Amino acid sequence: MKAHDGMFIDGAWRPAAGPDVIEVVNPADEQVIATVPAGTAEDVDAAVRAARAALPGWAATPPAERAARLAALRDRLEARRDEIAGTVTAELGAPLKLSQTVHAGVPIAVAGSYAELAAAYSFEEKAGNSTILHEPVGVVGAITPWNYPLHQIVAKVAPALAAGCTVVVKPAEDTPLVARLFAETVQEAGIPAGVVNLVTGLGPVAGQALAEHPGVDLLSFTGSTAVGRRIGAIATGMVKKVALELGGKSANVILPSADLARAVNVGVANVMSNSGQTCSAWTRMLVHRDQYDEAVELAAAAAAKYGDRIGPLVNATQQQRVRGYIEKGVAEGARLVAGGPESPREKGYYVSPTVFADVTPEMAIAQEEIFGPVLSVLRYDDEEEALRIANGTVYGLAGAVWAGSEEEAVAFARRMETGQVDINGGRFNPLAPFGGYKQSGVGRELGVHGLTEYLQTKSLQF
Ligand code: NAD
Repeated sequence: MKAHDGMFIDGAWRPAAGPDVIEVVNPADEQVIATVPAGTAEDVDAAVRAARAALPGWAATPPAERAARLAALRDRLEARRDEIAGTVTAELGAPLKLSQTVHAGVPIAVAGSYAELAAAYSFEEKAGNSTILHEPVGVVGAITPWNYPLHQIVAKVAPALAAGCTVVVKPAEDTPLVARLFAETVQEAGIPAGVVNLVTGLGPVAGQALAEHPGVDLLSFTGSTAVGRRIGAIATGMVKKVALELGGKSANVILPSADLARAVNVGVANVMSNSGQTCSAWTRMLVHRDQYDEAVELAAAAAAKYGDRIGPLVNATQQQRVRGYIEKGVAEGARLVAGGPESPREKGYYVSPTVFADVTPEMAIAQEEIFGPVLSVLRYDDEEEALRIANGTVYGLAGAVWAGSEEEAVAFARRMETGQVDINGGRFNPLAPFGGYKQSGVGRELGVHGLTEYLQTKSLQF
């Protein structure tokens, strides 16, 4: 057990203002592995002041130099890849291979992409007799969740730094250790003091203080819709810019002409990865009635294979919440074909990979985000019905379409109310804008669209 006592403010590790700590638990064996300080409004204030003091210097740093610092950050993350992976496995419970490839690999790629974008982006343009300057928005407050703990920090900090903003990060309470490691790499990369600050702490205390702080110009939040709605309202009321990345209930639409086995197998893998704790997971599989029974059989077999290969959920609350949804699905009349509500192990916050058949669109398990390894398979009669079901939730974050030809899949994807659609198993692209339609959020992360979130324009007329 390691007791950490500092927070990263103004380029140094400083003791917290208050005495409270947060225990970090390994969800695979329920052991406390570390403690970190539980920051208060006083710590947040110190961090915001440091970010504000550092802003003029960083904003005036030439983009090529900001790009060089981001490249150094990418290199430091790469150098510490194994440590990052081990840390995420310890505090989130993700299998080590997933931690290496995704939890460490994706943020390295994203940091690298912003090193390139900062160097290549035109921060000035001409329109008629005007010169338009793209200037940093200012001080960014970044509140992040635990499910992809380093990715979600880097997906905010890297574009903010590329834009010339300074940042205060408040990471999720379940996964503060990789956030601390990130702050160390910021220091190692030679990023000036105060440009990136880290305050660990509880959401309703440190998170809320950051959302409410008058020194924050832009609040970027990733997490649940309930919290996002609340703090988004606070920040908007103060006329701050707000970016929200919230929940999802994405549809995996398998059209009759698709390669059914491939679509089902990739679809199940997509849901089970990271134990289902992925906001963009395709948690609703939509299958034509003529192929339905075969698809259910394939999905149940695929889920059974995951038995021992997925990690636990992040904590006991999430485990109970997910098991509650499985019980609700059974009570609503859906048919359990794999997994179930029983805990598969005595220790650790595990939930069995679970598949429901005979799910109808109005059921809670077809409407609400479960955030666990639970797939709902729904039946449709024709394409119009498939589209109504696909678009029939309050969310619109991601999705997939499978068809015999790309043209057919794209024609369907164009009609989906959602921010991303993978066509016939298209790969994750760290340059593609990521974000939600409807209640899945406001704004976009990643690539050039993620960079422009952190810029505001000034026009000079000649
Ligand atoms: P959460 O909303 O409880 O927590 C997210 C962050 O907000 C944490 O840092 C937390 O400390 C903080 N927070 C909590 N209450 C707060 C308050 N009152 N004021 C300020 N900050 C507060 O969500 P979670 O449990 O960490 O994550 C799971 C949820 O997040 C799921 O619903 C999931 O879909 C969503 N999510 C969305 C995306 C996306 O990109 N759209 C990514 C990951 C997770």
